[in-house]
Amino acid sequence: MTALSRATELFGRMTGYAPTRVWSAPGRVNLIGEHTDYNEGFVLPFAIEHRTYAAVGHRGDGIIRVASTFDDSPVEVALVELSALFGGAPGEAVRSGSVPEWAAYPLGVAWAGLAFAGTPHTSGVDIAISSDVPIGAGLSSSAAIEGAAAGALNDLWLLGLDPLDMAKIGRTAENQAVGAPTGIMDQVASIMGENDAATFLDCRSLETQGVDLGFAREGLSVLVIDTHVSHSHATGGYRDRRDACMRAAETLDVAALRDVTTGDLERASAQLDDVTFRRARHVVTENQRVLDAVDTLRAEGPRALGGLLVASHVSMRDDFEISTPELDLAVESALAAGALGARMTGGGFGGAAIAIVESDRVGETTAAIAAAFADADFTDPHQFTVVPSHGVLRDV
Ligand code: ADP
Ligand code: MG
Repeated sequence: MTALSRATELFGRMTGYAPTRVWSAPGRVNLIGEHTDYNEGFVLPFAIEHRTYAAVGHRGDGIIRVASTFDDSPVEVALVELSALFGGAPGEAVRSGSVPEWAAYPLGVAWAGLAFAGTPHTSGVDIAISSDVPIGAGLSSSAAIEGAAAGALNDLWLLGLDPLDMAKIGRTAENQAVGAPTGIMDQVASIMGENDAATFLDCRSLETQGVDLGFAREGLSVLVIDTHVSHSHATGGYRDRRDACMRAAETLDVAALRDVTTGDLERASAQLDDVTFRRARHVVTENQRVLDAVDTLRAEGPRALGGLLVASHVSMRDDFEISTPELDLAVESALAAGALGARMTGGGFGGAAIAIVESDRVGETTAAIAAAFADADFTDPHQFTVVPSHGVLRDV
């Protein structure tokens, strides 16, 4: 059964009738631009074909009820209670056990959406969710569930939100209702994706541009290599890198590392200690690599991207120090098998790498990577290809 029919079927089981609408939003892969978002810099993610579906219909009362095939005991809350639930300290309702974590995503979107649109009175709603985005594999199943819920509620409740509004609402839900301090890249990538294109996002102005990828035309595939490794210090490591960036910006007397260019690095090296300098150098050079990737895609196409991806990986490995032996091996073995470029993707300390591979060499490449992992006694990685796909849309 497809995720769309599973969502529709779950809705039918919950309510006894068919949904009024079904909306869906995709997961995403970040092609390049890592740890640049909170430095007000640039990112270049694309939406993938794996999607999360939200089937919705009105209720006569003022209750919002959500269910997911991921955990199908439904959760019910009165709409008037949402502000009390989510208006306090970030993630409080989840921590205190008032709401299961998964339900805080769609309920948080409902709360943030109503607040954003300034719509105090509206009907209750039933929401049934199903997904084929792997959870916790670095593909942002969280942005997918937020995007699907935002699209569906915007339509059902006539909230009048544009795509960027929906992305902001998804981020508010994730930061405030779930309590995860993430940027807006994932939501923008999921909501605004286009077929065979990436979304170039300026994290300061929130301006976006679609950038044609041309993978299919060039006979190229994007391989995801999920190492299944997730380190317990990922959260602490993320906070530490964020702090180092803030410290560097303060010492260099700029609003954010976005304001430092590669030409300023020599001066910066005299002002920062070695570790802080290398953290800053990653962000500064990574921002430049995103700009170069956009130019390269436009001028030469995706075959010319490889060097930038590899340079991004080396910078994360050596300067930002967020790679792992598994991620390094994924990149090295993909390149040794003939990949045009490869890099770890996501926050680091585990997770997945991506590689750009000739489509007719995907089988050989995955076999070579699996063999390298077996030789190193690492857990067999989960490998699959992803196709750049469209963002949020109405399915039914
Ligand atoms: P990622 O976004 O990398 O997949 P996150 O930890 O940010 O990982 O988000 C995963 C969480 O999002 C899940 O643990 C769950 O709470 C929620 N979630 C994602 N997809 C679904 C779904 N289909 N149904 C219910 N909850 C979901
Ligand atoms: Mg997430």
